[in-house]
Amino acid sequence: MQPPLLDEARTMQTLDTAPKLWLNPQPQIPQTILATHAAVDEADARLLRFAPLLAELFEDTRDTAGIIESPLLRAPAMQRAFHDGGGKGSLWIKADHALPVAGSIKARGGVHEVLEIAENLALAHDLIARDSDYRDLLEPRARELFSQHRIVVGSTGNLGMSIGIMASALGFHATVHMSSDAKPWKKKRLRDRGVEVIENDGDYGLAVAAGRKRAAEDGRAFFIDDEHSLPLFYGYAVAARRLARQCEMQRIAVDAGHPLFVYLPCGVGGAPSGITFGLKQVYGEHVHCFFVEPTESPCFLAQMQAPPDTLRSVYDLGMSNRTEADGLAVAQASLLAVAEMRSRLAGVVTTSDAAMFEDLATVFHLEGHVIEPSAAAGFSGLRALFGTDEGARYLGANGLQDKMADATHIVWTTGGRFLPPDEHVRFLDTAAGQRAFNGATAGAVSY
Ligand SMILES: *Cc1c(COP(=O)(O)O)cnc(C)c1O
Repeated sequence: MQPPLLDEARTMQTLDTAPKLWLNPQPQIPQTILATHAAVDEADARLLRFAPLLAELFEDTRDTAGIIESPLLRAPAMQRAFHDGGGKGSLWIKADHALPVAGSIKARGGVHEVLEIAENLALAHDLIARDSDYRDLLEPRARELFSQHRIVVGSTGNLGMSIGIMASALGFHATVHMSSDAKPWKKKRLRDRGVEVIENDGDYGLAVAAGRKRAAEDGRAFFIDDEHSLPLFYGYAVAARRLARQCEMQRIAVDAGHPLFVYLPCGVGGAPSGITFGLKQVYGEHVHCFFVEPTESPCFLAQMQAPPDTLRSVYDLGMSNRTEADGLAVAQASLLAVAEMRSRLAGVVTTSDAAMFEDLATVFHLEGHVIEPSAAAGFSGLRALFGTDEGARYLGANGLQDKMADATHIVWTTGGRFLPPDEHVRFLDTAAGQRAFNGATAGAVSY
């Protein structure tokens, strides 16, 4: 009998949809590809130049003088829930669910890219110099200039919110092409601010393509390309140095005896990769970054495992890309992000929607934080590290087992601030329903 070549090739490509931890086989010696640390310095400086302006525009940034930043919070009750028995280190939450302006991690990259566009335009028209008080950009002639331009983006919801809110606040026209995953309340919030929202029937990739096409037809439009954008990446990367300062303030040591583990929800990969890029520069081999993706949308994992020069989407693997974690509902990873992560990423974890709902509920009941499903993905990173053979293998291969009592785990909660209360209640109900169904075990997911 002839071997069924095609089927065999298919099977080899098919990732199963069980939750898992995949370890990156590449040596973790950061390689320079496209992104530079000098450009992260520039992004950092740009955000400082704009801070007085942001404090004027957004009341929720006044306390931090226009710096869009989130707190690093202890999570003692979650730590007890996750680390029964102790000896596994301390658990912290990097609370990007509370980020001002856009209410998600997209307030880092998205805001930075809009500010870069605004700055370049204003400099080119001699409205400001780099040492000006950027509040000058609130004057009518600057708004007049910005109003002649349109900023276009494709989004599953949160990127659109960050770009739309920032662009319209400066006086730009803004168009957001939303994927079918986008929640109605996110669209409404944007429309209420005068942002044009175009609803696409298709997924995130199609929304991005629609935005790209629309912008190409308009000579005065700027397209923010989540799949390829360095300004977005750099905006995210700035978070790393700020986190390092927060760790210092909290007296969290990160060194050979005190490993740091960071768990980041991953969609197209730009946000977690930018942050990992920055963290690797600060902490080198002492930081271990894991991305977490939904089991039906593991696009970053699919691309990390693809042969060189091959694009591989989750559809190619027979997966649905359907998840309640709208921020992570992406079928094809950013190649920019994948390239930068090959020499930096520790591994990728996949997790079920059920686990995200469970953790969304637990973090609310134990710590009082309101987060959206995508933002709960990071907790599964912790679960996978301690609950899988691969996790044990990772700790063993890196000589970390006897250091875990002194380890720090940071779960990055990436969105939720503007989540309407009735949506949150619906998520809590879903979690409660699951628990009843599972016989009240906390084990919404096992590895
Ligand atoms: C966008 C998003 C992410 C992931 O960012 P990517 O750049 O798409 O990988 C994670 N969580 C939330 C809530 C998001 O909106």
